[in-house]
Formats: sequence, C-alpha cells, structure tokens
Amino acid sequence: MRTPAATPDPRPFRVLLVEDDDTFGRRLESGLRGNGYAPTWRRTGADALAEAERASYDALLLDLGLPDTDGLDVVRRMRDRFPRLRIVVFTSREDGADVVTGREAGADDHLAKPFGLDALLSRLRVHLRPRYSAAPLSDPVRLGDLVIEAAARRCTLDGAEVPLPPEEFAVLIVLARYADTAVTGQHLAARARVEDPSGPGAALDVTVASLSRRLADAARTAPRPVRLPRISTVRGRAYRLETDLF
Ligand code: CA
Repeated sequence: MRTPAATPDPRPFRVLLVEDDDTFGRRLESGLRGNGYAPTWRRTGADALAEAERASYDALLLDLGLPDTDGLDVVRRMRDRFPRLRIVVFTSREDGADVVTGREAGADDHLAKPFGLDALLSRLRVHLRPRYSAAPLSDPVRLGDLVIEAAARRCTLDGAEVPLPPEEFAVLIVLARYADTAVTGQHLAARARVEDPSGPGAALDVTVASLSRRLADAARTAPRPVRLPRISTVRGRAYRLETDLF
C-alpha cells in the first residue's frame, strides 16, 4: 500500500490588489490568478478599506497614488487594523521618499513602478512563505460581522460572544481560513481533528450542522441585522464558508 502524500493546502492566498490604473490592474489581477493566488481588485482606497473589513486577506498590494485618498493613509489604517497583513506598496517616484514613508507607515515592502509580474510574484513568495503554519495568517479573522479570535478561542457576532464547543470552534477556524473555498470533509476533519468514530463523515456532518445552527441562532437573536457568512455543503462532500453574499 502506498503512503499517501501529505494533503496539499488547497487554499490559495487571498490578495487584495488596489490599483486605479485599469490596464495595469487588469494585468496584475489576471497574472496573480494565473499563478495560483486569489486576487480581489479594488480601484480606490475607500473600496479597499471596506473590502478588508468584509473578508480576511493575506496580503495587500497597494498603489500609493490613488484617486480618492493618500495611499500612505490607507497603509497606516490597514497596518493598525490588521497587524499580520503583508503589505507591499507600489511607488512611482524614483527619489525614494515614498519608499521611506511607506515603510514608516507600515508597509513590509515596495516595488517601484513600472515593474513586471515576475518581480511581484517573487516578493509575494517571500512574504507569504509560512503557508503551512498552524495558526491563521491573520488573527482575529473578520468575515462580515463575525469575528474569530483563534488565539483567544473566542467567536463574536457583531460584538456579542457566540459560545462554541471546542470541536465546532476548530471547524470554524479551518472554514474561515479557507473562506469561499470548498474544503473536503476529509481535509476539514484532519485539520480540525474532529473525532469520527461512527463512520466516514458522520461526526463531521453533525459538528458542521450544529455549528451552522448556533451561528444562525446568534444572527436571528441579534438586536440588529448582521452580516454572517453561511456554511454551504458542496456536492455533499465538501464545505464552504460563503462570504460573497454580503
Ligand atoms: Ca495610481
């Protein structure tokens, strides 16, 4: 019998690309997608900040010259809000002033425009290297009004704590880490170390159903409408935490 290979991590890195130049933005977006990343492209600082609140990202690629706001201000706010987010800024000036201030504002790296896709990909590889680390890349993870604090083992919906049993919290962490990506039951169970004594998938089904119910109950009893990602079942064999509904 062959030894099964280690389960490859199926989750592409989520990259928030902020670039107001249509041609350049489109080229970077398709280049990132073609190289296994999951890019989301926004054209303004305001849209980028809103998008970062909506879903969790591993990296922010930000043109400092934006039409609506000072790119450095966006860097500061992102760094303040998401301490573990990797930030690479695009600078257009050659005098280095933006580079220095970009670093001071909290950027991890910079690329001087114009640059090629290969240069960008090599920076991303450096900054997103710890891909198999057990901890989520960002903590807390925010998905709509749901906030998951992995280190504190705490989950809140619009500020109100949602008490979860350990195995349900473990499942939620994995689904959040792979938000909007289908995760097979086998992978999810392995990652969440859910005990499965009664047969393939059975215990996991119960855990996921219970987790969904608890989250839905919390949303229903919340004092105001909340944005809650939904757990969907994909062809009966995989699960996905959907964040694109809000
Ligand atoms: Ca620009």
